[in-house]
Order: sequence, then C-alpha cells, then structure tokens
Amino acid sequence: MTVRTRFAPSPTGYLHIGGVRTALFNWLFARAHGGQFILRIDDTDQQRNVQEALQPILDGFRWLGLDWDEGADVGGPYGPYYQSQRLDRYQAAVQTLLAQGCAYWDYATAEELKAEMEAAEKEKRPKIYSRRWMAETDADRARFEAEGRTGSVRVKMPREGECRIVDRIRGEVVVPWSGEQDTVIQRSDGTVTYNLANVVDDCDMRITHVIRAEEHLSNTPRQIFLLEALGFPRPEYAHVPFVAEPGSKNKLSKRKIANYLKNAEFKKVYDHAHAITAKLGLETTPESFNPVLVDFYKTVGYLPDAVLNYLVLLGWSAGDRETFTRQDMIALFTLEGVNKSPASLDVQKLLAFQERYFQALPLEQKVERVLPFLLQAGFTVESEVVRQIVEAAGPRLKVAGDILDYSEFFLPDEQVPYDEKALDKHVRKSPGADWVTGLRSLLAAAKPFDAPTLQAQVEEFIAAQSAKPRPVSQTLRVLVTGKEVGFGTYETLAILGRERCLARIDRAITIV
Ligand code: GLU
Repeated sequence: MTVRTRFAPSPTGYLHIGGVRTALFNWLFARAHGGQFILRIDDTDQQRNVQEALQPILDGFRWLGLDWDEGADVGGPYGPYYQSQRLDRYQAAVQTLLAQGCAYWDYATAEELKAEMEAAEKEKRPKIYSRRWMAETDADRARFEAEGRTGSVRVKMPREGECRIVDRIRGEVVVPWSGEQDTVIQRSDGTVTYNLANVVDDCDMRITHVIRAEEHLSNTPRQIFLLEALGFPRPEYAHVPFVAEPGSKNKLSKRKIANYLKNAEFKKVYDHAHAITAKLGLETTPESFNPVLVDFYKTVGYLPDAVLNYLVLLGWSAGDRETFTRQDMIALFTLEGVNKSPASLDVQKLLAFQERYFQALPLEQKVERVLPFLLQAGFTVESEVVRQIVEAAGPRLKVAGDILDYSEFFLPDEQVPYDEKALDKHVRKSPGADWVTGLRSLLAAAKPFDAPTLQAQVEEFIAAQSAKPRPVSQTLRVLVTGKEVGFGTYETLAILGRERCLARIDRAITIV
C-alpha cells in the first residue's frame, strides 16, 4: 500500500501556523513512507475569489519547501482537487446513500427543529432529531412539498451500538452511535456539506491516513458511517492537538493578536519584525502582519528551515533533540511521537532557532538572503560591499531583513540622516567638537585605508589627545554614519572608503 496523506485548506487568504504544522506532519508522514502528499482545496463554502484567497497559502507552502505531489496547481490522477469542481461526485454519493436507505429526505423547518431541541433540553433527553419530517416515500415528499416545505438530505445514523476508532495519536476512541446527529449532507439548495464532501474526496483520492486537527475527531464517527455506507475502506486516523496561544492552553487564534501583544516577550519579537516592514515601506496592521500567520516570518526573512524545525517540535518530539534538518525529520517522524496535549506558540523560541540557523549559514548564502531586502527597500547595492557588511555585522543579523539596520551604507552620502541627539552629544559639544578637524586629517592621510591601519592611527590620536578611546570612536562613528549604533567603527570606515568618509564628515560639519 502506498501511503497517501492530504491537507485540505479552505481558501481563507492566509496560512495559519497551526494549519501548517498539521500540514507538516502530513508531509513528513508521506515522505517518511515514500508516499504522496496531496493539497486539496475545500472551497465549497467560498463566496470570494478562490485563486486570490488561495495564493498566500500556496506561496507559504512553496516558501517552506513543503511540496505536494497532487492537488492545487499541479493536478494529478485523482482530480479535480477543488471541491467546487466535484459537485457531481457528491451528488452521485447522495443518490447512492438515499438508494441504500443510509440517508433520507427531510422536510423539517428550522423552527420545528429548534422546538424539538428545546423540548429535549427541558426534559433532559439527548438532543437527537425525531425524524418526524422524514419522507420515506415519493408520496411523502410530494405531500411535504405541497405544504410549501423544502427538503434537505440527512444521513440516517445508526441509533444502537458504538463506533470504535483507532486513532494513531489518541489510541482507541469509542463513541456510542446513539449520540450522533442525523447531519444534513445536502442542503435544500442542492449544495453539500463538509462531512459528505470530505469523505467522498478522501475516498476518491485514495487517502490512506487522515492526519488532521483534533477538532475533527467529533466528525469522525459520522464520516466513518458515510464512507462505509459508500463501500470504501477506512483510512487510518490521527488527530493532532491544536497549537495553543502563547502561555496558555487555549487555541491559538489570529484574531486574538491584540491580547498576545500585551505579553512583553511576544511584543519584542513582533516589534523587531515590524521595524523591518517599516523600513521596507510596507503598511501593516497587527492583524495582517501577524505572528500567528506564516507570512509574517516570510516577509522579514526568517529561514524556512528554521521555521520548520521550530514547527516540528510544536507537538512532536524525538527524545531531547532539538535540531533537525528536513532529512532528519523525515527519517525520525512517527505519529506515535506526536503529543496528545497542545503546545503553545513561543515566538521567542522560534526566533532563537532562526538566529542559530542564520549564524550557521556560509557568508555567501547570508549575502544571497539579504540582497532581496536591500533591493526591495530601493537601494542600489554592490554585492562586495554587502558581503563586508554582513561579515562585520555577524550575529547582529538575526533575520535577513535586519540588513536594513545598515541603510547608512547604502544611502547616498548626502542623504544620510543625522541623529540630532547623537550630534549634540558627540560632535557639537567639547570634547568631540575639538577632535573633528584632527580626525578628518587623519582619515585623509591614512594609508592603507583599512580597519587595522585606521585603528592604529586613531589610537595614536587618542594618546596624543589624552582622551578616552570610546568617546573618540563614537565621534567618528556619528560623523560618518549619523548615529551611535552599529558594528565596529574601523570596519565601518573601511567599508565606506576614504572618499565617502570625508564627504560625510564635510557634510556633518555644515549640519553642525
Ligand atoms: N478544510 C478542513 C479544515 O481545514 C479539512 C478538515 C479535514 O482535514 O478533514 O478544517
């Protein structure tokens, strides 16, 4: 048997961290068994433009490198893979179920149903539909329709016995049939509902393992009844716990972002990324640029491998080990290693993974990662200069977008902004003010114009002035970069080169 798993997102316009974690488990399980991973689109209930709402999801998958063998965009032998294109399949299944007596036409109105449920509640009976408006014959249907009623199709669930589910994560789950509702499978307008569509898709697409969010465990007995009635073999099930919100056991929600931002650690990670989007000139809100969504990490230059490594540990473990390449994950992943209880999103830990992965990249690859951010911000750059900056910045670059902290290197000399406070402190006032001319002459004469030579000469200057080293180097830094922060002053001077340093000092003098 070839293992076939699937992820079935609705085209919502975004890729949720919890969803992608479930998708990752499906992908890993398929890859671990030499099987196929299918990306099918649950778009039956969509009013909006499906392609547009799907694009961020597909982009997220491609960015993470979670490739799919069949499904959206790529097609495959068991398509179509969009539910909206499969209505004839669903309608045929409804006909089969009706013919077998496993489903029935029902004519209850919403009010009648509501009254039944309220009465059951009052009398403390299980809220199960009485089938009072069930049409057993064509004559019944005609009679109900003559009364002006419209019919929907319900599944006729067993009322006795129990459903046994062997779940690869949760173990054996036993559910009495008597508690299962006769859910609507085809609405009065002819459209079908999730449970039916899902079963038909899983069967048609030969899905062998249904690995999905635990909230669907309650749908499983109904789906098992439907698929067995349709004569299909049962897949194996594995219900994955949801991803919890930071610091709690509640389900993570993109809508609760304002709450999460009240947590100082969470906010710090958010602010770091947000500063990058501001430098890129992107307009964002915490709802759209949201750490609960994969796009957040993609936008500011996290590494897909770091994100995947973090995500796989969100609910799965293989001993105490924390670092996994894709190949390691594929080799080690088992459904039995998935935890039964939810794990919380910890954006700080995710950033720590990112920092480690980024530090471990060879210099050339770091340069490749940061270049698109410089171009996106509108800078014209030489990759040799970028290479020197990336090297000098070292661990200060946590994500690729952090390169924009060094915009002073890429701005034309006459456009470098000067921080007023820094100018006051280090250039306008004594003793900084007294050093400007001397430092300018030193830079004009230094040979060669490299970091060690500059350092040696500035140290001589410091000794001659009987000054402290730090204030002198701060004055120099502010003169050429306009600000107090950055990596080593001498590396900064050397990367800029003599001409640019002198031009900037001359401009700073006019601003002062
Ligand atoms: N579109 C459904 C969801 O995302 C799929 C459910 C399933 O995997 O069966 O919740």
